[in-house]
Amino acid sequence: MNNKLKYFIYSQNSINTYKSCPTKFKYKYIDKINWKYDDIESREYYDSLKVGSEFHLLCERYFSNIPLGLNEYTNPKFKVWIDKIKNMFPMNKKNNKIYLPEYEVRFNLDGNIITAKYDLIIIDENSIEVWDWKTENVKLEYIKVKDRIQTVVYMFLAKEAVCKIFNLNIDYNNIKMKYYQPQYDDIPIEIIYNERQHELNKSNIIRYIDMINNTNYEKNDNYKYELIKNDKHCSFCEFNKLCNRQDVVYSMLEEDIYEC
Ligand code: SF4
Repeated sequence: MNNKLKYFIYSQNSINTYKSCPTKFKYKYIDKINWKYDDIESREYYDSLKVGSEFHLLCERYFSNIPLGLNEYTNPKFKVWIDKIKNMFPMNKKNNKIYLPEYEVRFNLDGNIITAKYDLIIIDENSIEVWDWKTENVKLEYIKVKDRIQTVVYMFLAKEAVCKIFNLNIDYNNIKMKYYQPQYDDIPIEIIYNERQHELNKSNIIRYIDMINNTNYEKNDNYKYELIKNDKHCSFCEFNKLCNRQDVVYSMLEEDIYEC
């Protein structure tokens, strides 16, 4: 194991970063270079992400059953969106469901710690729903989200970690993940699960962890995988200036908003 990754906690974000470009992973997680807020344009970009996180905060308050704190300064679109959430999840209706907003779990997978921070987990008598709010201005499609690293990690940990914490024996087929974009429509994208997919997800996570752990980041070590640059990803990457001396196009940046 790479010593620099001895205490590393894997997440969908870090795995996804490696998948996009191993050099980007090195900059972010090994060299710990923070490229954010270095100029006006990037500040605007990251401020827009902050706006998205405010909607997550409203949802967290709603499912925690505490006042939302809406006032005259609240972005009007959030009032519309949170009304949609209220309609979908009427909390005053008596039911036995457990709602866990902004719920974080960790799981030890063969000696490696992997974490997920869910926007919302709903536990019912014999089922688990994983909800993820998406506020970016690009409409998601089933085909693009079904095999996302986020889907892989979140569903895997729902079965392995959430079931264990709550001492539940929930069948794979009763675990679902739903991506919801309140600005587009009322129907979430639903990903279903089964045992075969679970095993596939497990082997994919193990494969990525192995690659991350055994990459030759310093170019003088003797590791299995060479450190490569994924040129195809450069236009979407905040390190474009550093690697290629090219301006970063923030409107095209593929940054996962809600890091965990
Ligand atoms: S700019 Fe390109 S090569 Fe450099 S870290 Fe980003 S994706 Fe990788």
